[in-house]
Amino acid sequence: RTRADYYTDAIDYTRLKILDDFERSPAGQGEAARGEVHIVRRIPGYKKIRYYTHENIGYGNIHLPDQEMHTTAVWWQMAPEALEQRFASRHEALDGFLGAAYAMHHVAALVVMSEPQDLGRAVGDGDARWFATVGSNGRGQLRTLDGGECDPEQEGRFRPAVFLYDHYPGGVGLSAPLFDSRDRVIRDALSLIRQCDCAHGCPGCIGPILASDEVRGFSPKQAAITVLEGLESHGAA
Ligand SMILES: [Zn+2]
Repeated sequence: RTRADYYTDAIDYTRLKILDDFERSPAGQGEAARGEVHIVRRIPGYKKIRYYTHENIGYGNIHLPDQEMHTTAVWWQMAPEALEQRFASRHEALDGFLGAAYAMHHVAALVVMSEPQDLGRAVGDGDARWFATVGSNGRGQLRTLDGGECDPEQEGRFRPAVFLYDHYPGGVGLSAPLFDSRDRVIRDALSLIRQCDCAHGCPGCIGPILASDEVRGFSPKQAAITVLEGLESHGAA
């Protein structure tokens, strides 16, 4: 028995590889697609998060075997030209994708009437070459297969995607209705973030953000909005 002022949350490295796409459709300045994916999830450690404020107050390492599965997913990718035009740097774009993914995940669970844990989310390139995670400095960070860090500015091909996957081996049928509601997911995530009263992002919209705006020098909330605006289809029903 212990009295702690924090809870713990897993640090999640999700490598995701697209195996096949079943359907694709334009989404704003990008594309949405649904298909089959291979996922390897590694939990290298945990974060300690303070109750109520959701501040990150420490880390610990754990050793667990990797979890692998095949399932179905829906993903959104922005055209590389649109990405360059909308963001000053790839780091900023990455923070935007991580924040947008958090909001889209929670909105999507409502849209398909599932629990948030029935869906998994990941930000990566779809080739399992790299995936994005929030580093100890509070910024989005790229990691390669073995967990090593890599620099997004050095990547020749930089096409981050938000993946929402069916969190059961083989899938239980969440990806088809999710793909059908793809425009609504983007729209609802946008209005969730825009209507949030926070200044630069909070656990209620883009998720617990670890570094303040002063440290980042820009607003992660605005970055998430920029990503979603780039994926918003206008005039869609
Ligand atoms: Zn907020």
